Amino acid sequence: MGHPAPGEPLDHLPDAEFRQVVRDWVEAHYPPHLRNPRQRLHFRENKPWYMALSAQGWLAPGWPREWGGMGLSAGKQLIMIEEFERHGCARVNDLGVIMLGPLLIAHGTEEQKRFFLPRILSGEHIWAQGYSEPNAGSDLAALRMTAELDGDEWVLNGQKTWTTLGNDANWIFLLVRTDKTVKKQAGISFLLAPMDAPGITVRPILNIDMHDEFCEVFFDNVRVAKDNLVGGLNQGWTMAKTVLGFERIAIGSPKLSSYALDKLWLLARRLDLLGDEAFQEVAARLAMELADLKALYETFVVRIKKGEMPGADASMLKLVQSELFQRITEVMMEVAGEEAGMLEPLSGNAALHPAGLFIQARPGTIYGGSSEILRTVLAKNVLELQG
Ligand SMILES: Cc1cc2nc3c(=O)[nH]c(=O)nc-3n(C[C@H](O)[C@H](O)[C@H](O)COP(=O)(O)OP(=O)(O)OC[C@H]3O[C@@H](n4cnc5c(N)ncnc54)[C@H](O)[C@@H]3O)c2cc1C
Repeated sequence: MGHPAPGEPLDHLPDAEFRQVVRDWVEAHYPPHLRNPRQRLHFRENKPWYMALSAQGWLAPGWPREWGGMGLSAGKQLIMIEEFERHGCARVNDLGVIMLGPLLIAHGTEEQKRFFLPRILSGEHIWAQGYSEPNAGSDLAALRMTAELDGDEWVLNGQKTWTTLGNDANWIFLLVRTDKTVKKQAGISFLLAPMDAPGITVRPILNIDMHDEFCEVFFDNVRVAKDNLVGGLNQGWTMAKTVLGFERIAIGSPKLSSYALDKLWLLARRLDLLGDEAFQEVAARLAMELADLKALYETFVVRIKKGEMPGADASMLKLVQSELFQRITEVMMEVAGEEAGMLEPLSGNAALHPAGLFIQARPGTIYGGSSEILRTVLAKNVLELQG
């Protein structure tokens, strides 16, 4: 079977055929040296993959076709994720695709959509997320970075932190304070800023793996166009909740747990544990939890496809996924025994790297809302328990 033409509609294919098409294409086009990376890759590293997806029209499976997406059904998106994971494909710099794009499609002006969406798809604009500040993480509404209107421009002052791959980005979407006199959630706006604007300083932070995965970003009288406001003045909290909803669905995707469980099986085979009853019991339980997560994920993707905005219950997905991913990698560390302490992959096999996956799984219960915060959201807004 030949590869599909760029942009060719694929949603009508039967699932098995679609899976084969994706598998063949990924095997033919994924840069072999980027398989199973042990860390998040920088754009300078994963750009060939980003551009291959872009050229094929496969960068935004969930976006509608009118905006250059694939317009795929939920089930097909899952198949695509599974095939990418099976092949060990790296995550690209996808904040424009998974967070900003859907927000602009829902709340952007026509001009904003026409200007920004094609540039996300072409790889011209790489986005970072500027929400957190040194004293505004879980309590995000406490953010202090200000934007004041001066003629036709906003003047930005303040600091963002934990900005993932901020050193790769040439644009950043920001939450900023535009009114200090009202309740804290009511005085926040959502702004877009080019990272090369004078007055922006980016300082990388090393993570526990000595990787410059995050940055601090400082804004000193940075001027951005008035039209870069998304969703109206002081509507930033509503915008933030929408993006967080998308983020919780994206982070809630079963792909990380599914990938980790595959690696657990590989590891067990290598350590000759497949016949061990204690291992079988633990692994079977994890496999069942993963099946639950996949079913849950699919219900959310279906709702989004119907045009529903993700609500507070999307927190459940992110909570289940991030904790399951951690549990699987904890079991990997346990069964790997003395080899668990190795920072390098076992026998040089990039697919067998318990400590690497364990480290990757740790932050999932912090970003996009920590587990404690998500449990509170669920208790209050879904179960309607009184605090
Ligand atoms: C890998 C990674 C990538 C990130 N990328 C980005 C990014 O690109 N852009 C961005 O803006 N931010 C990013 N963040 C920041 C992330 O959003 C924050 O770390 C997160 O919101 C938690 O905030 P904090 O770190 O200030 O911790 P804190 O809010 O200080 O929380 C510390 C601890 O206290 C607990 N806690 C806090 N408040 C409560 C409460 N009310 N009830 C119960 N427990 C509570 C938390 O659960 C946590 O365990 C990233 C973080 C990580 C780890």
